[in-house]
Amino acid sequence: CGIVGYVGSATPSERPLDVVLEGLRRLEYRGYDSAGVALVVPGEALATAKKAGKLVNLVEEIAAHPLPTATAAIGHTRWATHGGPTDANAHPHVSGRLAVIHNGIVENFAPLKAELLASGVEFLSETDTEVVAHLLAREYDEVKDLTAAMAAVARRLHGTFTLLAVHADVPDTVVGARHDSPLVVGLGDGENFLGSDVAAFIGSTRRALELGQDQVATITPTSVTVTDLEGTPVEAKPYTVDWDT
Ligand code: GLU
Repeated sequence: CGIVGYVGSATPSERPLDVVLEGLRRLEYRGYDSAGVALVVPGEALATAKKAGKLVNLVEEIAAHPLPTATAAIGHTRWATHGGPTDANAHPHVSGRLAVIHNGIVENFAPLKAELLASGVEFLSETDTEVVAHLLAREYDEVKDLTAAMAAVARRLHGTFTLLAVHADVPDTVVGARHDSPLVVGLGDGENFLGSDVAAFIGSTRRALELGQDQVATITPTSVTVTDLEGTPVEAKPYTVDWDT
């Protein structure tokens, strides 16, 4: 229901987690039943935490089991559509070294899940979203390019989605895609943001880029690129968010 992504300094710090939790707090007004985060730590596996219930449950979980400092992070508040509001069904969903968060519904998840199960993939949740995690991880292993992998997987999905993904191989990158669901880029100075709504990053920047239908955004600390689902670069116009906070 709420989505935040952040990438900043190549030196790991607490800022990625702080930004993502602040963004999730600002998106709480939209309603949700679970929350979770994934952090990218250079040279290591992804670190994740997720909890059913209010954001405070996630914050308490992290206080009890502290997360490492990181260079990038994604955070999600879930409004369950497929699978009850449990810890396991909360996002992020992880496949190998990749994590994904999702707003919306993957209408064709059943045939995609059948295909993955037939090839031996094990599922850890009852969500429609988990198919995206496995498809993306497999595609990334083939093409070794998170942006191209996201575009290829997005082309296979029917329904509505805002998706964000991170991969442990690329600790300076967060990739997002959208179809019939909003995704906005926040432009920082040596750091960049993604959100389902400008509220996700308004605490840090008011410069933004709105993504069009069926577009993929790739952020690093110093670059933002936008393409269509065929990989063709698209021009996105920056604007200043005119908002009282
Ligand atoms: N359909 C997904 C799920 O049930 C995402 C729901 C949402 O938009 O939060 O997990």
